[in-house]
Amino acid sequence: MVLKPLLESIKSLGEERFTVEFPETRESLDDRERYMLRLDMDTCISCSACERICPNKTITMVEVLTDRGPKVMPQIGIERCLFCGLCEEVCPPKCLTLTKGYDFEAYDKRNFIKRPEELQG
Ligand code: SF4
Ligand code: SF4
Repeated sequence: MVLKPLLESIKSLGEERFTVEFPETRESLDDRERYMLRLDMDTCISCSACERICPNKTITMVEVLTDRGPKVMPQIGIERCLFCGLCEEVCPPKCLTLTKGYDFEAYDKRNFIKRPEELQG
């Protein structure tokens, strides 16, 4: 029972490694791969199209105080984001965009809830 996995481990010792030491080493991403969303608060028109289209209901419009007074903008629960890009596609001023950022691990799940201010580049 124990012998088989042990033999497999010994056999694999000389083989090529499939994992990398993170964060010291980072895999390069494919051109099409994009993850963390970025919001340009200056051009968001508070239309809520992103909230309506999100298939996983991970966008909630929340109030933020801007230079021009209070506005509503998207807050995103990154732990439930599918990185599907639908919100980016429907955003009229193209102020919500997927980026190459994928380093957003957290010990506390509340840290995955990103307010509009935290989504700025
Ligand atoms: S990328 Fe997809 S799942 Fe993520 S917030 Fe946008 S619409 Fe929702
Ligand atoms: S991010 Fe884009 S789609 Fe979402 S509320 Fe702002 S302007 Fe509308």
